[in-house]
Amino acid sequence: MQTSNFVFKTVDEMRSAFKDEYSTYLYSRGLNPTVDMLRKKLAALDEAEDCLVFNSGAAAIFAAVLANVKTGDHIVSVKAPYSWAQKTFDVFLTRFNITTTYIDGTDITNFEKAITANTSIIYLECPNSWDYSLQDLQAVAQLAKKHNIVTICDNSYCTPIYQKPITFGIDLVLQSATKYIGGHSDTVAGVLSGSSEMMARIFNSEYLNIGSGIQPFNAWLLLRGLRTLPARLERISATTLEVIKFLQSNPKVEKVIYPLDESFHQYELAKKQMKGAGGLLTFVLRAETACEIETFCNSLKHILMAVSWGGYESLIIPKVAGMERLTFDRNIADHQMVRLYVGLEEATYIIEDLQQAFDKMKE
Ligand SMILES: *Cc1c(COP(=O)(O)O)cnc(C)c1O
Repeated sequence: MQTSNFVFKTVDEMRSAFKDEYSTYLYSRGLNPTVDMLRKKLAALDEAEDCLVFNSGAAAIFAAVLANVKTGDHIVSVKAPYSWAQKTFDVFLTRFNITTTYIDGTDITNFEKAITANTSIIYLECPNSWDYSLQDLQAVAQLAKKHNIVTICDNSYCTPIYQKPITFGIDLVLQSATKYIGGHSDTVAGVLSGSSEMMARIFNSEYLNIGSGIQPFNAWLLLRGLRTLPARLERISATTLEVIKFLQSNPKVEKVIYPLDESFHQYELAKKQMKGAGGLLTFVLRAETACEIETFCNSLKHILMAVSWGGYESLIIPKVAGMERLTFDRNIADHQMVRLYVGLEEATYIIEDLQQAFDKMKE
């Protein structure tokens, strides 16, 4: 329903809408019927009481964090969270004397050690979207409840199809709907789910105030994306296993990092928390120089070089794209990382493209 405002028949109806915008259609910066259909479906998928849909995943992160801090507070975050989460903590919140401690979230004792009397948020990203490191969601949720701390988990990697953090006791779960929910690389959006009480509070403050709610047409695109979400994930996950098998047998590849591969250092925890892992994986190339990695990436014919993932097309990002060539060190495995998103193409189409690009590396 592509409209900015809604009509009232009587002054009294309008008066009650002004009083409580969260239960009436007044203006599309707030509620909108198409967005509401989407909210119901997404909340059900997350097994949450309610959810809000934002104009980006970054906006969902920002609202969730902002709603749960005040001046002088402290945040415990997993290290290397999504870049704009980290910028919220390091650039924005420091202006309000809110500090953040980054920890290795693979060990629960690190959370215990980092908590202080003014910790108000524990921020999780499970799995991380480069090295896929996990947190024990149930253990972190229990610890946080004991200290009256709000837990927020970025679930973009799994989507609620493969992992439901709320069922482990996490308070707020968010995801970039730009990725698998949209699924066609044509919309930017974000989802934030939690209790009715928390969602109402965020709606009446951050959501309306920042004005970053999703637009009706984009909400419709996500409703359309949801219709094929399970089928897309199933196909992508199956193709990904074939691509991983190929990569693991390739002499140019040092190792493949994927949470549901037996070689993954937290494989047992991954199996416990996740029903699947989708199409995002990282491989470490055996490359002596940054140029070799660049030759590999530049030689790909079908796999596209672009940020994001979750769409129909396979994508690649080398770690070296985010650093200067001269700082490349072949002894640091991170520098040789290449992140691959496996899309909806046939496995052979992707594998043949990777093979011909590996062959070019030698030249
Ligand atoms: C893409 C992404 C986001 C941000 O979502 P946008 O829709 O791009 O704003 C947040 N977290 C993770 C893990 C992401 O991959």
